[in-house]
Amino acid sequence: MTLNLRKPMIAGNWKMHLSLGQSVELAKSVRDATENAPGEVALCVPFTAIAVVAEAIKGSHLRLGAQDLYWGAQGAFTGEISAGQLVDAGCSHVIIGHSERRRLFGDSDDWINRKLKAALAAKLIPIVCVGETLEERKSEKTFSILEGQLAAGLKGFAPAELAPLVLAYEPVWAIGTGVTATPAQAQEVHAFLRRQAGKLFGDGFAAGQRILYGGSVTAENADNLMAQPDIDGALVGGASLKAAAFARIANFQVPARAPARRG
Ligand code: PEP
Repeated sequence: MTLNLRKPMIAGNWKMHLSLGQSVELAKSVRDATENAPGEVALCVPFTAIAVVAEAIKGSHLRLGAQDLYWGAQGAFTGEISAGQLVDAGCSHVIIGHSERRRLFGDSDDWINRKLKAALAAKLIPIVCVGETLEERKSEKTFSILEGQLAAGLKGFAPAELAPLVLAYEPVWAIGTGVTATPAQAQEVHAFLRRQAGKLFGDGFAAGQRILYGGSVTAENADNLMAQPDIDGALVGGASLKAAAFARIANFQVPARAPARRG
């Protein structure tokens, strides 16, 4: 079966924000304002909000994700949440390796690899984040850092196992800073990531690989980013907490895109 896997995706990352009541209200507003969005729309919410948001958006076009998971199936792992528990609570997606997890909580490439394995085994769609720091960019290490993160994070999988994979390029210097990569900067890295995916898993795989951009995406800059040929969507932090801004991003407007296929 040949799947068109480069359907655009706009995913919101609510991080550690909002009460349950505010979560339900925001989810419903986004649902109503994105019914005709050109791509998939996902909300990645705090663990505590998953069940209530799942109920609020039931039967709608919205997809629901978590922001992390643990690779164990069950057991004495205080404070952790398994892939199975996420599915049980209503998730279809999960973010893995967000730079805040890597930087503040010590998530290593090896952990990301284990989390990816657990997510895929539970049939969750993994959104795996990679990105360089400002220092790394300034010292021209962007491509070597990304090459390393990709190779280690995706190690040991056959291309077919990674069919559901979504990659997110999130330059650390652009996250929550208000500084967005220019469309040209983002495109350059997305094209590089696609070439790397080709080296690791073959050209057919790479041609169908969805790669989202994340880092201060707003209602104002989303269209220009989405117009780039290798940008397939956005992972949105701050702007995903405002229904109107997030809906505008999800309803991005660009000239028609040619379908790409993973064959
Ligand atoms: C993020 O946290 O994934 C993110 C991209 O945040 P922001 O949009 O706020 O930069």
